Amino acid sequence: MNPDRPSLTSADLPDGIGRVLVEPADTAGFLTDWRRRWTGRALAVVQPGSTDEVATLVRWCAAHGVPIVPQGGNTGLTGGSVPDTSGRAVVLSLARMNRVRAIDPVNDTITVEAGAVLASVQAAAREAGRLFPLSLAAEGSCTIGGNLATNAGGTGVLRYGNARELCLGLEVVTAAGEVWNGLRGLRKDNTGYDLRDLFIGAEGTLGVITAATMKLYPQPAAQVTAIAAVASPHAALALLQLARGLLGPSLTAFEMMSDLCLSLVARHFPDCPKPFADAPPYCVLLETSDPESEAHAAERFDALMARAIEDGIVSDAVVAQSIAQSRRFWALRENISEAQAAEGKNVKHDISVPISAIGDFVERTDALLARHFPGIRMVVFGHLGDGNLHYNVSPPLGADGDSLLAQQDAINALVHDAVAAADGSISAEHGIGVLRRDELPRYKSPVELALMRSLKQALDPKGLMNPGKMLA
Ligand code: FAD
Ligand code: ZN
Repeated sequence: MNPDRPSLTSADLPDGIGRVLVEPADTAGFLTDWRRRWTGRALAVVQPGSTDEVATLVRWCAAHGVPIVPQGGNTGLTGGSVPDTSGRAVVLSLARMNRVRAIDPVNDTITVEAGAVLASVQAAAREAGRLFPLSLAAEGSCTIGGNLATNAGGTGVLRYGNARELCLGLEVVTAAGEVWNGLRGLRKDNTGYDLRDLFIGAEGTLGVITAATMKLYPQPAAQVTAIAAVASPHAALALLQLARGLLGPSLTAFEMMSDLCLSLVARHFPDCPKPFADAPPYCVLLETSDPESEAHAAERFDALMARAIEDGIVSDAVVAQSIAQSRRFWALRENISEAQAAEGKNVKHDISVPISAIGDFVERTDALLARHFPGIRMVVFGHLGDGNLHYNVSPPLGADGDSLLAQQDAINALVHDAVAAADGSISAEHGIGVLRRDELPRYKSPVELALMRSLKQALDPKGLMNPGKMLA
């Protein structure tokens, strides 16, 4: 350390930046990630109440060479939202910036501050008679800023797209502490480089998102939720094709789960429904949203199922008879991660391949893993309609989770090489953070990495925005 320049403390922070937290009891929750895999230290956790306060803080950090870690709900799964262990960084929590600034039901847009919790944005849209379709299991805690910074997906991507596709405009505090107001509610705007798209999915490495204008949709008149039994991912794909053909844009969710997923949920969440007496190898949770009526929705759905059974694609199906039952079906899907965690340590992969390649990918990778790691158990589930699977693995029955973790790098390489061979992505919705940072160079071309570094250098020349995340 330079003795002429004593290190900064929280007492050096300027006025006009909002609430400053420094006591360990107050800051602890901001320094460890959701899965408790990474714990860092910070100069302070700062919670600005306005865009101006964010800008004041960022300008001070730029002047003093202090790294900034933006944080929303801290539900990210790749370690991007917590600082390193140096204690030099400021955690910039957007939690207090949670207001709805405007709803325009005619333009079908909502403008919210970045710290607004996703579920509260859904509720604000609902109160205005509209639908905000982004939906994921962390929606009670994650924020719009975090959703955009990770380009979150979730269960409605098939019909409505991911966070990027739902966003029309952003307000951003740049790494220099300037405010860019790009809160345009325009569906067409070809006036140069799309700056908005740069900040979406950037995981806080280019600037701080302080507000966003998001798209709204009509609320459906009726929804049907069902679980269908299929023999394989190939059969699930055949059902997807049939459902898209017969239902078109009414098909709003298409989630696949392997039999092991259902048995883990049954063991750890005994209150969850058991849709089939004999668990099929795979099943699909489908949801349709109908613009007309319940009768119309049921009629179209019954036609789909009749055809799928006649064609031998589906062996059995259970349709939810009430909203409560539909929620219970969704709980089955949403409890898989927790059930796997309750079972012990595991290794997760959040991969995507072209939808057409998913059947072969699962078959081939299952076989490879079984050959190289005898007894290993694949817990495969996810957003089949988006080509995105959570291809997780648990240790052999009775084996210790630590021995699985000791083989983690070899397992990751096997799965991710298979993904690359299928022209897929090693992170479909959770981002890179620190979890996948060192794997990225193996799967991105030197040209692509160099372009990413040029952008980082141009927008954050001092390297203070979430350093060490995404790019080493
Ligand atoms: P944080 O965790 O706080 O931050 C995530 C990243 O974004 C960090 O790099 C952070 O620095 C950056 N960041 C946060 N806010 C800002 C901002 N305002 N400006 C700039 N950068 C910012 N993801 C999916 O895509 N689909 C799912 O289905 C899904 N399900 C999940 C289920 C559970 C139970 C959990 C715990 C997570 C799930 N996730 C899922 C992970 C997902 O990334 C997050 O839930 C969510 O998008 C992150 O929002 P957050 O506000 O918690 O962000
Ligand atoms: Zn997911």
